Amino acid sequence: MENSVTPTHCPYCALQCGMNLTPTPDGTVEVSERTDFPVNRGALCGKGRTAPAVLASSVRLTTPLVRSAGTLVPATWDEALDRIAEGLSRTRTEHGPDACGVFGGGGLTNEKAYTLGKFARVVLGTSQIDYNGRFCMSSAAAAGIKAFGLDRGLPFPLEDIPRTGCVILVGSNLAETMPPSLRFFSELRENGGTLIVIDPRRTRTAEQADLHLAPRPGTDLALALGLLHLIVAEGRVDEAYVAERTVGWEDARAAAMAHWPEYVERITGVSVPQLRETVRMFCEPENAMVLTARGPEQQSKGTDTVGAWINLCLATGRAGRPLSGYGCLTGQGNGQGGREHGQKADQLPGYRKLDDPAARRHVAEVWGVDPDSLPGPGRSAYELLDALGTDIRSLLLMASNPVVSAPRAAHIEERLRSLDFLAVCDVVLSETAELADVVLPVTQWAEETGTTTNLEGRVLLRRQAITPPENIRSDLRVMHELAARLGVEKGFPTDPEEVFEELRRASAGGPADYSGITYRRLVEENGVFWPCPATDGDSSGNGDGAGSGGASPDAGASPDAVGASPDAGAAPMRTPGSGDAAPGDDALDGPHPGTPRLFLDRFATPDGRARFVAVSHRAIAEEPDDEYPVLLTTGRVVAQYQSGAQTRRVDELNAAAPGPFVELHPRLAERLGAAEGDPVAVVSRRGRAVAPARITTTIRPDTVFMPFHWPGEGRANTLTNPALDPTSRMPEFKACAVRLEAVES
Ligand code: SF4
Repeated sequence: MENSVTPTHCPYCALQCGMNLTPTPDGTVEVSERTDFPVNRGALCGKGRTAPAVLASSVRLTTPLVRSAGTLVPATWDEALDRIAEGLSRTRTEHGPDACGVFGGGGLTNEKAYTLGKFARVVLGTSQIDYNGRFCMSSAAAAGIKAFGLDRGLPFPLEDIPRTGCVILVGSNLAETMPPSLRFFSELRENGGTLIVIDPRRTRTAEQADLHLAPRPGTDLALALGLLHLIVAEGRVDEAYVAERTVGWEDARAAAMAHWPEYVERITGVSVPQLRETVRMFCEPENAMVLTARGPEQQSKGTDTVGAWINLCLATGRAGRPLSGYGCLTGQGNGQGGREHGQKADQLPGYRKLDDPAARRHVAEVWGVDPDSLPGPGRSAYELLDALGTDIRSLLLMASNPVVSAPRAAHIEERLRSLDFLAVCDVVLSETAELADVVLPVTQWAEETGTTTNLEGRVLLRRQAITPPENIRSDLRVMHELAARLGVEKGFPTDPEEVFEELRRASAGGPADYSGITYRRLVEENGVFWPCPATDGDSSGNGDGAGSGGASPDAGASPDAVGASPDAGAAPMRTPGSGDAAPGDDALDGPHPGTPRLFLDRFATPDGRARFVAVSHRAIAEEPDDEYPVLLTTGRVVAQYQSGAQTRRVDELNAAAPGPFVELHPRLAERLGAAEGDPVAVVSRRGRAVAPARITTTIRPDTVFMPFHWPGEGRANTLTNPALDPTSRMPEFKACAVRLEAVES
């Protein structure tokens, strides 16, 4: 391992770009091109290219820290682990198991996310576990499950994009968030297809579009309804498809017909001719796609908004057909896998529901516990953080930095400070770790092995390339040692492959069935798409040197798949001619090939038909008024990642993106009397943030934009509104009312 090249994947976003790592004499790694991975074919953005800098960062944690007389001081591992076990035990004894909270992250590998969910429910017995992925894509997940019976970010590989006819990209700025993915859209246009970008800002992504619509933030739902109205009015509905493959059309149609184009123009600011042009571009080609990201999803009506975009696909027959469909561009590195294997408040491994008795029985058997001992669903991420210091007295937090990334962040910081006990596992002293009673230094991506699942549902193996520094331990070992201290000696292995073998069995028969996937296959096949059930002809279950055995023999036929028919596990969503093996063909005599394309034969609902969801426009939770007359929207810049805990430690990235800013239109700047670079205060009902003005005509005059990567005075999430979507419990990061104030410089 030490001198060879290790093919692996980037630690950051959900594209999970392939890269090669070569160890260097200073104990870190050098990144080089890995062209065999089809998603990025060797291309990397600056974050991926500079990721090794965090391995060798001078501010990396090198020893456990415990709080003593108000200060974090170095400690031994035994001292630190004992303190955590004592803290959690005391809370459990004094206040009950639900007073212990667990908060995970979308960057954790599948093995860690799985183990964290098991740790919470088996060791602590708490229902109070959720993760920051709730802030990322939960509205799209909820809408996907409602419509299709299953949520997987993209139901097709990215390589399908260049071969479709039109893509509508809603609220996604790929040029900043996933630059290597832009190649698929360039190829789409080279092939004669068109790209429509919907974003309140004319972003670098929007500049590459054939058509850019700039709706007022928070009005994407009305926009989708107006487009559906025109599709009906212009006779562009695919009636045969609607009759054959969907239910619920009449109600959805009636709701859309109440949204006249002129009414939608008034709500969104998008003109009727632009609406008509969008419909023409979307409907004329044989195939088309709609892809959403955080723009429409991070709203208090995000589930309905995504549902409205899915309705557009269903009405025009653009779902569950080759080269057509709806997909969500998941954000975090393992945002997809993280929500499939049990760190979400309402889920068990395999994307099973925690309140489903059959799912509880299956997972409890794998875990060797009584199903009745498993707690029920807990609070969602924001609700959990909001309960800190009141109902929840102690928190174990891994791979997350809510002091920067949570909405209404100053309030959440206060809640964290009010805890009886806080333990944080991280690689650097993040703003959240600074508040902890115990901080544990853990391994990073190049120092450990584990699987992630990218935005396409492609399960990947990230491989260890170097030995971690002395005194650094893996999250799996942390959970193993804490479990032992809390009285659970078995069931928490430290070897990731052993954990994955158990995960396979726990996921078998569930909607996200990984039981036919092994580490060996992930290496040989460069990733495998789920669902991938074990088959009778699957020889890969045992004998991989993986430890705990393969999938259960009936793994493919468990009846508890969400919304699936009783035989749903046996690859019901593969279709001949789609590039997948056909049901009943020779492939089923061997290992299941995985499922790159979902829904081509049937949707994962009990009757195989997709569901229209009748939705209507409603306002955002906090509309501008006289006191707060401007809209704030937030997002990312290319050189920083999420809360910046890692990327703010990289000199090259800091030089490119040194701090926060307030992007505003010249008309707004003039009213404020602000020039480029002047400090501007942005004030909402939750607080005040100050950052330099960046004046541009690429933003609407009624809207300001702030990136959310920084703590302190310029923290964008001081301002954001935690109003929750009633279904997904997603906070409304994307739109809230603010006022601007000039600041003396
Ligand atoms: Fe890493 Fe995402 Fe950049 Fe690819 S696009 S190199 S996965 S951060």
